[in-house]
Amino acid sequence: MIAGRLRAAALAAGRSCLLVLFPPRCLACRAFLSPEGEAEEAAAGEDLRELLRPLLCPFCRRRVTALEPPFCPRCGIMFAGRSGPIRLCGRCRREPPPFAAARAAFAYEGAVRELLHAFKYRGRLRAGRFLGRCLEETWRRYGKPEEIDLVVPVPLHPGRLRQRGFNPVEQLLRRWQGPPVGRDVLARVHPGPSQTGLDRAARRAHVARAFRVVEEAAVRGRRVLLVDDVLTTGATAAACARVLREAGASEVQVLAVARTLPRPRNLREPDDNP
Ligand SMILES: [Zn+2]
Ligand SMILES: [Zn+2]
Repeated sequence: MIAGRLRAAALAAGRSCLLVLFPPRCLACRAFLSPEGEAEEAAAGEDLRELLRPLLCPFCRRRVTALEPPFCPRCGIMFAGRSGPIRLCGRCRREPPPFAAARAAFAYEGAVRELLHAFKYRGRLRAGRFLGRCLEETWRRYGKPEEIDLVVPVPLHPGRLRQRGFNPVEQLLRRWQGPPVGRDVLARVHPGPSQTGLDRAARRAHVARAFRVVEEAAVRGRRVLLVDDVLTTGATAAACARVLREAGASEVQVLAVARTLPRPRNLREPDDNP
């Protein structure tokens, strides 16, 4: 008991020393963070960007675009208008994706891009914890949390995993409170294409063959939430969703920290037919 308290006090003291020696900096612009910015657990409140307070300075946070309704109910792309009837975007009407819904917390640009790079490529694993909370909060707000049986992270190819040392998506899900996470359900059997030299169609074809369901029994009849760090073209999510459906998943939904938006300021009208 006393040993426990001493240990906690020693840890707290050690942490204070670290903060003095290495005061936390904004992961996007390297500015020092104010003490209140460093607060470990910010409340989400109305504004999802508040969850990034321990990682980004106020200036960088203001540059973040949190994705908010109205969305296309299928692919989750934001519509420009703030109101109006809920309907599918032109693209989902023409060519419905193999997933039932996709949602992301932020636009993949600016400070969010910096943040994800720091997390994925510069080993800032602590960022994963706060980004993971953003995922969960996005799902609670804009997804269908009660309609999921199993959470499946998009896997890395074993070669890439050795190189990087960790799968960022699994790191994001480390404190996930929702439905169970199936870490070995899906495998990546081909590494990501080195994108150079392949046109869009060839990349798509390559990605389409990259995934395999390892544990079919875990998937059959289940409603799956597929989680990735970033959605860009959606080809990876579509490829995973397709093999999960083929293995018997009754429905697949998709959740990511960030997504690329189709245009600068990037909002699509419901009737848009790009
Ligand atoms: Zn900053
Ligand atoms: Zn859509």
